[in-house]
Amino acid sequence: MSKIDIKSMQIPEIKELLKQFGEPSYRAEQIFKWLSSGVESFDEMTNLSKSLRQKLDENCYIASVKIEKRLCSAIDGTVKYLYRLHDGEFIESVFMKYKHGYTVCISTQVGCRMGCSFCASGLDGLFRNLTASEMLSQVMMAGKDNGVRISNVVMMGMGEPLDNFDNSVKFLKLVSDENGLNIGLRHISLSTSGVVSGIYKLAEYNMPITLSISLHAPNDEIRSAMMKVNKKWNIEELLKACRDYQKVTGRRISFEYAMINGVNDSIKHADELAARIKGIMSHVNLIPVNPVKENDYQKANDKAIKAFIDRLEGRGVVATVRRTLGADINASCGQLRRGTVKEAM
Ligand code: SAH
Ligand code: SF4
Repeated sequence: MSKIDIKSMQIPEIKELLKQFGEPSYRAEQIFKWLSSGVESFDEMTNLSKSLRQKLDENCYIASVKIEKRLCSAIDGTVKYLYRLHDGEFIESVFMKYKHGYTVCISTQVGCRMGCSFCASGLDGLFRNLTASEMLSQVMMAGKDNGVRISNVVMMGMGEPLDNFDNSVKFLKLVSDENGLNIGLRHISLSTSGVVSGIYKLAEYNMPITLSISLHAPNDEIRSAMMKVNKKWNIEELLKACRDYQKVTGRRISFEYAMINGVNDSIKHADELAARIKGIMSHVNLIPVNPVKENDYQKANDKAIKAFIDRLEGRGVVATVRRTLGADINASCGQLRRGTVKEAM
């Protein structure tokens, strides 16, 4: 029988487990707090009886991530991690310092099956979903390794969080639990390539997280050429889901837009974009595309980005260019993992 992933459990579920063990339910809070403190064995849970620790060890395991590689930026303190999972798979996380605190960008899957043309994470397809505990462990390890309290989380690493819906929602509940890491949902962003069914489902939970939409194009012709998901749900359906999400949660939507030279970076595209997102309380994040060697996309030039942003602002759209962090450890998402897996082959 496979062991239980106790670090993916919320307190009521641990209580249920304790009931089956014939143990008092108040121990659940203690166990949850230990797990949130980052312990890696049940023996470290020193306020539990020896027999309970033994029962836990026989039936459960504590998920964790091991640092395989660590790339530190000398410029701004950004740290890029390659983690090894218990089954030998690799995932990436990034630790970043901002004025307002420390942010971790976590992966939600090993690989990704969405196959966006500009992204390294999806080049080899999906290997498996991450458990909620593996997402949580990335946050904990970044905090522990840097000796700080993490205040913000972005689900923008490898994988499509809404293609791993249940585990992503579970992670959101665990990471924001006041008995645990207690990171407020308002300090968490979830980024999706546009899995519309998942956006509607997420709205039902009415969580005050920031929803980030990887839009990247102002019309279906360009978007479908870059993102397969657009053939399933086009921009109109996606923006309708965003409006609905906003109506329920009252939260501003963040649109991600990777600026690609000659593809989506003209003034005409800026006009088209402004017209399409009109009426949605939103913020556009322009990101100079990170070149990946498997495709030949080039970054839009600074002049084009400046003209694009000015045009958007002139049309009442709030837009910023994403600050480049860790420029000296530049490896776009998914590239570190691919490099290592290839080396090992
Ligand atoms: N699957 C989710 C979240 C992970 S991708 C999503 O697609 O939103 C995180 C962000 O990185 C997305 O906005 C994605 O479009 C962007 N991204 C991926 N590859 C990129 C690249 N080469 N250059 C710039 N942004 C990229
Ligand atoms: Fe997957 Fe997001 Fe990369 Fe698209 S951009 S392949 S959805 S990780």
